[in-house]
Amino acid sequence: MPEDAPRAAVPEDPFGWTADEARRRADAGLVRTLRPRPADTDLLDLAGNDYLGLTRHPEVTAAAAGAARRWGAGATGSRLVTGTTALHAELERELAGFCGFEAALVFSSGYAANLAVLTALGARGSLLVSDADNHASVVDGCRLSRAETAVVPHADPQAVRKTLAAHPGRRALVVSDSVFSVDGDAAPLGALAAACREHGAALVVDDAHGLGVLGDGGRGAPHAAGLAGAPDVVATVTLSKSLGSQGGAVLGPARVVEHLVNAARTFIFDTGLAPAAAGAALAALRLLRREPDRPGRARAVAADLHTRLTAAGLSAARPDAAVVSVRAPSPEAAVRWAADCRAEGLAVGCFRPPSVPDGVSRLRLTARADLTEEQTDRAVAAVLRTAPPC
Ligand code: PMP
Repeated sequence: MPEDAPRAAVPEDPFGWTADEARRRADAGLVRTLRPRPADTDLLDLAGNDYLGLTRHPEVTAAAAGAARRWGAGATGSRLVTGTTALHAELERELAGFCGFEAALVFSSGYAANLAVLTALGARGSLLVSDADNHASVVDGCRLSRAETAVVPHADPQAVRKTLAAHPGRRALVVSDSVFSVDGDAAPLGALAAACREHGAALVVDDAHGLGVLGDGGRGAPHAAGLAGAPDVVATVTLSKSLGSQGGAVLGPARVVEHLVNAARTFIFDTGLAPAAAGAALAALRLLRREPDRPGRARAVAADLHTRLTAAGLSAARPDAAVVSVRAPSPEAAVRWAADCRAEGLAVGCFRPPSVPDGVSRLRLTARADLTEEQTDRAVAAVLRTAPPC
């Protein structure tokens, strides 16, 4: 640039624009704030994802503490360097066996597992077909991959079929949540797999909300649909919901897992899952094997919540797993409703744009296998007492 050329004005404050964003959020009722949770509280928790009530189970916390003492507080390195312990290998073996897949690979989060699958399997030139209501981590995985992404209408195998047919001969992956986190409805996995097979596409199922809740003894949605272990199916799971720990995993054919070990950047360049988290997830998995009734109890609590809330006139989708989603008239009403529930001693989730695909804000109640009847009564009463006028 010549020295005498006019210079653009230098902004005084490089983050000044965030104040405008904050004002815009406030005007739309979409401000989010962090609230540290006390360790001990009388608040009844229907906001977390501890579906089986295992996160504070003495065997699970003892396993976490024992693993930290034995292996250290951190994994010390990436999985390919020093971050793989015997615990990681054991967890992978047992998780794959339980869910009915040939192999498993543990990640530091379910988010990282989704990014891994979509980026390492969705190469440039291939096609990703993604449900419009998929979780943000799936959306981000599609964006990060070099593949072309086609977003198809929610739970619509016919739309998937049409999209695949429009790209004959293309290497393709169809990706869907098994249970959608906003409305708690289940994907038509059998029909999606059939559409995939007609066109030689692979199916990727994000089973974050299905593991431990759906399928025989909580073996997950792919197992329930007869797809576990199929050569053309990959599942991702989180260890942070029904297993009460932290971390994620990919389940699938051994050759796919071997490819991820060599090609998935969120595996290769990320520090391995903390041993405490691996130990806790393994203990929770063993508990789930020993107590196969927990998943059914979580589903029954969800069905009961739904029946009683809709009977009282609230609008809620029928839960296919443990997520009960109740519609609110506006984002502001949802925030107020959740706050009023909290004042009544009940913690519930509050979903607003951009976390909802259709712009409709919701209260989100998560059923837990360990909720007593008295607690369920209390939760229903609190939600109804504080409900805004429709
Ligand atoms: N997929 C879905 C459907 C989820 O709900 C979540 C967690 N909210 C994730 C993936 C990410 O899992 P994690 O929290 O272990 O990163």
